[in-house]
Amino acid sequence: MARKPTAQPNEQDREKSKHVGALRELAPFVAPYRVLAMLALCALTLTACVSLLLPMAVRRVVDNFGTESDALLDKYFLAAMGFASLLAVGTALRYLLVTRLGEYVVADIRKAVFDRVMAMSPAYFEKILTGEVLSRITTDTTVIQSVIGSSVSIALRNILLFIGGLTLMLFTSAKLTGMVLLIVPAVIVPILVLGRRLRKLSRENQDWIAESSGNASEALLSVQTVQAFTNETRARKSFADITNLSLNAANRRINTRSVMTMIVIFLIFSGVVGVLWIGARDVRAGGMSVGALVQFVIYSVMVAGSVGALSEIWGELQRAAGATERLVELLRAEDSVQDPVQPVTLPTPVRGEIAFENVSFAYPARPGIQALDDVSVTIQPGETVALVGPSGAGKTTIVQLIQRFYDPDQGAVRLDGVALDAMNRSDFRAHLALVPQDPVIFADTARENIRFGRLDATDAEVEAAAEAAAAHDFISALPEGYDSFVGERGVMLSGGQKQRIAIARAILRDAPVLLLDEATSALDAESERLVQQAVEEMSRERTTIIVAHRLATVKKADRILVMEQGRIVAQGTHDALVAEGGLYAKLAKLQFTDGADLG
Ligand code: ADP
Repeated sequence: MARKPTAQPNEQDREKSKHVGALRELAPFVAPYRVLAMLALCALTLTACVSLLLPMAVRRVVDNFGTESDALLDKYFLAAMGFASLLAVGTALRYLLVTRLGEYVVADIRKAVFDRVMAMSPAYFEKILTGEVLSRITTDTTVIQSVIGSSVSIALRNILLFIGGLTLMLFTSAKLTGMVLLIVPAVIVPILVLGRRLRKLSRENQDWIAESSGNASEALLSVQTVQAFTNETRARKSFADITNLSLNAANRRINTRSVMTMIVIFLIFSGVVGVLWIGARDVRAGGMSVGALVQFVIYSVMVAGSVGALSEIWGELQRAAGATERLVELLRAEDSVQDPVQPVTLPTPVRGEIAFENVSFAYPARPGIQALDDVSVTIQPGETVALVGPSGAGKTTIVQLIQRFYDPDQGAVRLDGVALDAMNRSDFRAHLALVPQDPVIFADTARENIRFGRLDATDAEVEAAAEAAAAHDFISALPEGYDSFVGERGVMLSGGQKQRIAIARAILRDAPVLLLDEATSALDAESERLVQQAVEEMSRERTTIIVAHRLATVKKADRILVMEQGRIVAQGTHDALVAEGGLYAKLAKLQFTDGADLG
């Protein structure tokens, strides 16, 4: 069969690691709970010991059956009850402790990874997909949870049972143990060979299932297009083909599995029967008691069971090791932007003077293209500066560098004379307020969305900010006013409303520097007027840098910086620049919305 599934590996077969040793990296996360871990270990050892003692008790009962007095028999059974209770309590305790340990450790790992990733600068997210980070935080931690919360303890338990069981088998009958060890390879080899084939087949089967659901979801998502082009038959055939391939893979897996089951059951039972046969002859010959034979058989079953369990858990451990590697990679990720070891604090009060000194910068993802090329400009406290220029000129990059999302390759960006990279990012960012082009609205109430600008603001301050941003009226008109839920990503708000919420947020922040990326899409005239008004209000007292797309905005700016290919090619007021007749005059005619009222 030539076709191979092309689907991405799904969560069950997230890549394994060959190095189970990677699990060591989990130690620092387990360390705070070492008492819990030790207690769990004690409970585990206790239950394993009890399990290993039970067959001895059975032997005594069997051997002395009929010869014992009733009182002694009662004692045996009482003791058996005692064992059973110990086993019950120990097992429950182990489950409780170990599962909790898993939950605690994984909660800590999740938090640590999230904390780390939350602080990363944008360059990091250019290299890793957000979906990948999410799947690491969810899927990979779940794998680790199942390993710490059960697999490790099952493995330990089975190791104890294996070693203890084998030792006690030897003590019970060295001869029979030797024979068992002889037949072990005869059973293990086919299990290993068929097991490997089975794993490959079930993986193939799963890949096909993923492929078939991928195919179905694509067809269903575009069902109207498919119908409009009357291509249903093709879609049906393609889905049927993939489903049949997955069925074939499943059939091969089922066949292998049934053959394997047959071989394994036959080998194990004939082995057991063979050993029992020889044991029975020994019993007849008086070399062994019936109880000892029973005891031996129970131990062999225990040992065989533990081998089976261990072989299954090995795969789990590998999967968890892979998950650990991926999480540790996130935890160890180095950010390209770092806070200084000895940060300088900003002199107060913050005036809001922004200076670019010979700044050159290329995005790490596109090292060949100078996004900024030797830019020098000083923006005075309180000044309103509009950045204009064709798309790709570097306007947004200026705003990004003022927030130190990236460091310039050459030159420096300063706030009130202090280089940004000499300060803690959270320190100077507290004095910046941002109104992005496409404002982010969180799945929360209108009130909380505005309060995002300054978390300790009172309700009255929130409302005052909304008033100043011309948002008060529409918010009050919502069914529950400020407490109305505005929906995930603000789906219940219009573009202009979202912008006014973002402006209210920035007003509430009350920062000396305002960064504003104007929306490119045109708003209706009324929203436009309200947004303009709010911006004007807000920029009056503050240093304001606007990536401008509207004529009304640039006309009101104190200064216009015209950018092209990462350089500032002209600056001045609107009238002066129009009179100059360069790039700006052309842009003003072509690019700004509301071009008609060009003066
Ligand atoms: P403007 O805001 O003036 O449209 P930008 O500042 O966004 O321009 O972009 C300047 C240059 O940097 C463009 O060539 C753009 O393609 C490039 N650029 C912008 N953002 C990135 C990024 N995250 N990674 C790589 N290149 C980028």
